[in-house]
Amino acid sequence: MKRRTFLNSTIFAGAFPLITPKQFFTNSLIKPTSKNKFPISICTWNFKEANEVAGKALEKGMDSLNAAILGAQVEEDNPANSTVGFGGAPDREGNVTLDACVMDHKKNCGAVLAVENVVHVASLARDVMEKTPHVILTGKGAESFARSLNYPSTVLLTKESKKAWEKWKKEAAYEPIINIENHDTIGILCIDKQGNLSGACSTSGLAYKMKGRIGDSPIIGAGLFIDNEVGGAVATGMGEEVVKTVGSFLIVELMRQGYTPQQACDEAIRRIVSKEEGIPNFQVAYIAIDKNGNVGSRSIHDGFSYMEYRDQKNINNLVNPY
Ligand code: ASP
Repeated sequence: MKRRTFLNSTIFAGAFPLITPKQFFTNSLIKPTSKNKFPISICTWNFKEANEVAGKALEKGMDSLNAAILGAQVEEDNPANSTVGFGGAPDREGNVTLDACVMDHKKNCGAVLAVENVVHVASLARDVMEKTPHVILTGKGAESFARSLNYPSTVLLTKESKKAWEKWKKEAAYEPIINIENHDTIGILCIDKQGNLSGACSTSGLAYKMKGRIGDSPIIGAGLFIDNEVGGAVATGMGEEVVKTVGSFLIVELMRQGYTPQQACDEAIRRIVSKEEGIPNFQVAYIAIDKNGNVGSRSIHDGFSYMEYRDQKNINNLVNPY
């Protein structure tokens, strides 16, 4: 981030305590705008097909939650994506364990953590949300819940991901760093024709993680947060750092206070970077959208981009690093 932008945003942030609670409340809710701006779909990385599938479904009238899950499924099914779903990198013991969460426009949410042998974990997270009295199911419990709903049992480790894991084992260095090359979590935020916002986030997490490690992606408030009155945000990158700063919730709450999506993403990244000495060697990136369809994004390092589908165009936007 340029020094001047940084100074402006900190001055801007400092101004808020001066707002009285009453003013704050009046300022806080972003006014709904005309519905004809919508639908919009944005997602992390250059997942062109995933975002297009979601965008087109929204145009046909699909609601935002179904569209977000449909988009996420494109990457969950994609064996070439080594950080999501089928073909995702395993943990250090060779087990592929998936994490996902969803949140809808009514503040409902669901998540599954460390699930094996199920590809469509974002959809499973929705089932937790809709078909159980809970918000989170983990491991074997989540897997048996999937079986009870007839999700197929799928071996998630592919020939290629097994080969890469075996190569890693020979080197056997455990360096839990997510840099610019090794992460491709899909986080997707959709606004439907009704102006309702929902999101989904799906990942296999950190490659060769310790067995049982969970990052930010299935943690509501960290990897994803939606408030239909304000906006939504989603994260990718070094999940531990996103969890420590509750990044997606932070962004949405900053937008509630009047930050633009861009300013809110800048501040969330600044909170992470400011804990470190200098620019850290891991990557974290956020995308955010407000209730009016304004979009923001920021990453710590170069190399991050996001897709944006609106007005029947699906565009990849490069993100300037901090
Ligand atoms: N955020 C994910 C995690 O920490 C990884 C990623 O985005 O690639 O599990």
